[in-house]
Amino acid sequence: MLSDEASSFSIVIQALSYAAEKHRHQRRKGSDHAPYINHLIDVLDLLWRVGGERDPAVLAAGVLHDVVEDTGTPPAEIEARFGKRIRDLVMEVTDDKTLPQAERKRLQETHAPMLSRDARVIKLADKISNVRDLHRYPPEGWPLERRNEYEAWAKRVVDALRGANPALEAEFDRVLEQGHPSGE
Ligand code: ZN
Repeated sequence: MLSDEASSFSIVIQALSYAAEKHRHQRRKGSDHAPYINHLIDVLDLLWRVGGERDPAVLAAGVLHDVVEDTGTPPAEIEARFGKRIRDLVMEVTDDKTLPQAERKRLQETHAPMLSRDARVIKLADKISNVRDLHRYPPEGWPLERRNEYEAWAKRVVDALRGANPALEAEFDRVLEQGHPSGE
């Protein structure tokens, strides 16, 4: 029998290994084209270090949050490997890819207040990671106007999520403030 601590650690490592395999052909859309797993490690780091999140299910779901949306992994596979709670959390933060992108973005805003506390925390870490990457490595072909639009949308989603984890919310505000492009 593993101790609680060892089994918590084990599930997060398993999630990282599984996500690395699933996203292995995917790159971030930023100008550095980083391996996709970097984003998932970033989200895990934000949840743990900035957010103080210690629940292994939240940490593992944070690592797995893009697996269904971006790699077409069946939710049942997540459940079989990681259990129902992690599957449910991943599904809460998964967009319906059959909808057009503009509609998906609108739904993120309207659904945000209905999400569970744990799903909101994952969304917050995701938005911090995405906006930080946008500042550091703006995608090619994204003029300032498009970046500003993305930021404004991310802020509306975060505003609708507030109340879940004040440290992550403050970190989002700091990232937004700091990275505000100037003189372009
Ligand atoms: Zn993500």
